[in-house]
Amino acid sequence: MRKHIVAGNWKMHKNNQETVKLLEEIIAKKATNDTEIVVAPTFVNLLTAVEKTNSKGITVAAQNMHQAEGGAFTGEVAADMLTSIGVNTVILGHSERRAYFHETDALLALKVDTALKHEMRIIFCFGEELKDRQIDNHFNLVEYQLRDALFHLEKSDWSKIVLAYEPVWAIGTGETASPAQAQEMHKFIRTLIDKVYGYEVAENVSILYGGSVKPDNAKEIFSNPDVDGGLIGGAALNADDFLAIVNAF
Ligand code: PEP
Repeated sequence: MRKHIVAGNWKMHKNNQETVKLLEEIIAKKATNDTEIVVAPTFVNLLTAVEKTNSKGITVAAQNMHQAEGGAFTGEVAADMLTSIGVNTVILGHSERRAYFHETDALLALKVDTALKHEMRIIFCFGEELKDRQIDNHFNLVEYQLRDALFHLEKSDWSKIVLAYEPVWAIGTGETASPAQAQEMHKFIRTLIDKVYGYEVAENVSILYGGSVKPDNAKEIFSNPDVDGGLIGGAALNADDFLAIVNAF
């Protein structure tokens, strides 16, 4: 049975003190349910977050990592550095990394391989831009993104993969894909995984939806059979909003 996951991508928000405060609020207010809570603060606050959430049922994830094992890559962070402080989950392929830092699916395939080599779990983001949806190319585009970044993997690697479908036009815009649009795409993705990897992989992979998920729309989005959770940006920066989304399952 696949997992329900709600992950907060904090992006370049929250300094160290603010990170502690938000985590304390989340820890104090969170209810116990079966939904896994993931938080992804910025690199400099990861160790603080790991220490703060120790045994509190919250997973700490990185927002990115470099594909190389190490070396002369000023400003970058390697997989081993993350796992050495207890960060074993990484978000890869976020649309902001693709748009502002020119990350391609070919590059992401390398990052995925490095993360897997270090036995990390990957929350892999992908999704179409508005122009793709307007010309009805969104299914094709999503298929290519998955094929180019992930379909070289072995079946067994998929236990470490979480998919996050994030239509770019819905990220930080207040626009959300309708629950029907989300379900339609998630179903398409699961059917595609089934074709390539078989029923078991397809049934077990969690597919998260991301794009302006808020407390008032989470329940409807999460009620779809192929939506297994959310990747949350803006609403993850406030404990009450974030937990209301977690509790929407
Ligand atoms: C995101 O950045 O992954 C995201 C979904 O942001 P928001 O929830 O703010 O649209």
